Amino acid sequence: MEIYSLASGSSGNSYVIVHNKRALLLDAGLSGKKLIGALADVGVDPAWIEAVLVSHEHNDHVAGAGIISRKLNVPVYMTRGTWMAAAEKLGPLPRGKIIIRSGTFFRVADLLVTAYPICHDAREPVNYVFSTGAHKAAVLTDTGCVTRSMLHTLAQCHALILEANHSAEMLFAGPYPWPLKQRIASRQGHLSNAQAARIAAWLSAHGQLRQVQLGHLSAVNNTPDLARGEVAEYLARQRVSRALCRNVQVLPRQQPGPILQVK
Ligand SMILES: [Zn+2]
Ligand SMILES: [Zn+2]
Repeated sequence: MEIYSLASGSSGNSYVIVHNKRALLLDAGLSGKKLIGALADVGVDPAWIEAVLVSHEHNDHVAGAGIISRKLNVPVYMTRGTWMAAAEKLGPLPRGKIIIRSGTFFRVADLLVTAYPICHDAREPVNYVFSTGAHKAAVLTDTGCVTRSMLHTLAQCHALILEANHSAEMLFAGPYPWPLKQRIASRQGHLSNAQAARIAAWLSAHGQLRQVQLGHLSAVNNTPDLARGEVAEYLARQRVSRALCRNVQVLPRQQPGPILQVK
């Protein structure tokens, strides 16, 4: 299984998960044109894509979901709450919607997909674990906290795209109005670099985690060097496997990132 980030940040998120030349798109927060361009950049044939999965209704995740589902003629998977909040933005879905429930799994594009709940200020947000049978990977962004049940689900994953949205120091010293700062740092907001570091260390010590890519970075309250540095230094202090410390990658906000080969 390979995962490509097409964009990762508050101005748009989309990931392609590929297995045996079959694929699915997780979130589509870019224009249809940009999504097709990014797929070409990473060498994924749009004809491989069999479904669009949506995590929640925020624009940076759904802006292009309706357009791309019409263009590729594929269904959209999401929770009922996300559907109720996003129906208008999505527009007509000729191949329909498939309502999923968090905590359940389904099969699509030769992958077993599990939806798990996240803590975010949206109607019924989830993210997903993807399994080939032999290997598992997950995306965890747009969450303000990580519960024991989320950790338990993620512990089986070999690779993780993990939110490192902000440096807490930059956020609180920065230009955002106070209510927005509080929202971002809340349990329904976004993960900080320090939270990401603790989650990665725990999943490496108690689970199967071997590779991590940091995503959904803020343009205002973080920098790629700071995110990588905070997480890698913490992992090194916790005596996490050297391979994991060395391989902490940061996903670019507006362009495709390095391939995540899950093995
Ligand atoms: Zn987001
Ligand atoms: Zn969000």
